[in-house]
Amino acid sequence: MSSYISRVNQLDAGKLDDEIFKIFSSKILESSQFFTPGVIEAWSPEINASLRTVIWVWTLLRGKSTVGQKLLNLIYADLTKNKAALLVILSVVPQYLEEKFLDPNRFVSPRLRPFVKYLDMASTVVNAVSFINLLIFLHRGTQPLLKERLLGIRSCNVTHHVSRDIGYSFMIRELLWHGLITVFGTGLPMINYHYLKQLFRKFISFPGDPKAVINKTPKMDLSTQCPYCELSPILPRHAGCSHIYCYYCMQAHFTAADSFNCLVCGYELNRENMKVFTVSPGI
Ligand SMILES: [Zn+2]
Ligand SMILES: [Zn+2]
Repeated sequence: MSSYISRVNQLDAGKLDDEIFKIFSSKILESSQFFTPGVIEAWSPEINASLRTVIWVWTLLRGKSTVGQKLLNLIYADLTKNKAALLVILSVVPQYLEEKFLDPNRFVSPRLRPFVKYLDMASTVVNAVSFINLLIFLHRGTQPLLKERLLGIRSCNVTHHVSRDIGYSFMIRELLWHGLITVFGTGLPMINYHYLKQLFRKFISFPGDPKAVINKTPKMDLSTQCPYCELSPILPRHAGCSHIYCYYCMQAHFTAADSFNCLVCGYELNRENMKVFTVSPGI
């Protein structure tokens, strides 16, 4: 067995173990969606603890390595039965206590308050020591987890000279895809669709004589529709012809270009002629 083992493999093994737990726990949550709401949540620390116990017992006590380690060809070389059992306890109990008593969203009985206070302090201390352990791990390259250092166990390679083979083609594809999304995301909003649409419309001849509608007074009744969105005009506006547009529809056209041809009669509407439609007295 090779004694050297890369730091990233050891860290990844821990991460993979967490992921395996998350996969199972999400499956349990999925299967419980038809239960009365709150039932599963109330028991979630116990469920998580049992799940962790099952995973750790089935992997560690039977095969000397966790799921993450197995995936990366690692094994605990000097793991005795007692140490394995302690490792299971250290992997399950602290997490359970934290989820059960230190979760701010869970109700804790007032009788347990002093206990929770000490637990909170202990958790802070453990976190600080874990951080120091991480620094030592980065320096020495063994035992990334505090429990491993406490039990004096370390990971070893199962096989010799297993180089870490990473396929970069997937990453490149991912980078290309992200680049493309960024180009579309920033480029597409800059295209002036209204202007292009108007330009396109200019090539199509309009029926009717535009001059015939000059200064025709717009009229609005229940059947009036905005020529652009074909809905009842919201904040009605007009700009020279008898057709009434929504404020937004007309302003969008004027934002794209200073003038545009009415979509119905083809009369050229100018930005400066845009007026609020008001019902004239007597109607
Ligand atoms: Zn409209
Ligand atoms: Zn018109």
